[in-house]
Amino acid sequence: MKSNAVLAIHGGAGTILRASMAPEVETRYLDALSGILAAGQRILAEGGGALDAVEEAVRLLEDCPLFNAGHGAVFTSAGTHELDASIMDGRTLEAGAVCCVKRVRNPVLAARRVLEKSEHVLFTGAGAEAFAAAQGLEFVDPGYFHTDARYRQWQLARGEARAMLDHDGATLEAKAAANASADSLPHEPIDPNRKYGTVGAVALDAHGHLAAATSTGGITNKQVGRVGDAPLIGAGCYADDATCAVSTTGSGEMFMRMVAAYDVAAQMKYRGVSLSEAATNVVMEQLPRIDGRGGLIAVDAQGNVVLPFNTEGMYRGYARVGEAPVASIYA
Ligand code: ASP
Repeated sequence: MKSNAVLAIHGGAGTILRASMAPEVETRYLDALSGILAAGQRILAEGGGALDAVEEAVRLLEDCPLFNAGHGAVFTSAGTHELDASIMDGRTLEAGAVCCVKRVRNPVLAARRVLEKSEHVLFTGAGAEAFAAAQGLEFVDPGYFHTDARYRQWQLARGEARAMLDHDGATLEAKAAANASADSLPHEPIDPNRKYGTVGAVALDAHGHLAAATSTGGITNKQVGRVGDAPLIGAGCYADDATCAVSTTGSGEMFMRMVAAYDVAAQMKYRGVSLSEAATNVVMEQLPRIDGRGGLIAVDAQGNVVLPFNTEGMYRGYARVGEAPVASIYA
């Protein structure tokens, strides 16, 4: 029997810097996405669960410095890192999330432990770290999250006295670099100064179950204590076997106000529309009503995958079991 099992991932959406981008940098992003897709795909091919596949894909995205989650996360206004993550099991509607953690190496692993080992759904700050420590998760020195590229973006954002999406930060950085020296910075395909840099994964496994996970450093120069959509079930992450699994990236405040991830599932459930129609409506019609920018990835129980975004680009890809991973950046 042919399996519909499929994994999709994203690494943020935003404004594209195609003109100024070196082909080898683009290749680096596509290779990272494809490698992570292949790793998650292996779990599904071996009959593993969707929850395991999304957790592993997001863990790898957190460890990859190219993306704004875990190592490579953006800086707060205080020059620190505060990380948010969530995960949801479409089979049981169980969910777990953490926000404002500063020393947990992989926030998505902490979210998974909350899902499995706690009667609660969301832990914040010191309490989240105490929970993660009690679960034996790996802690790192805060310096582990530092990358020079994000540091430069933070300096630029501070200069402009604003908070910005990770990929939007890269645009500013590229502009500054173009003005300074042509070879000083490797430009990202998507302008880091005009980019939402959350990472996420959604999957359907061979047993017909759905899962979603989302992880982020938030937005560059965000105020300390600010929390976006990524760790909020229904806003940045949602999964229900009866409808779909969704992970978002974008201007978190608008995704929260639109309850964006759940709106995709709700439209399928109550309007009876397809995954594609529901996701397109949320990204292209609902979010723009309040100037919400970004995108999402989603999969339904039949294995349909959609990756809509209302920005110029989104780091994204999907991998069906038995087929080569497909990764892309531009519209
Ligand atoms: N949605 C994230 C947040 O608001 C940002 C992002 O997607 O980069 O924290």
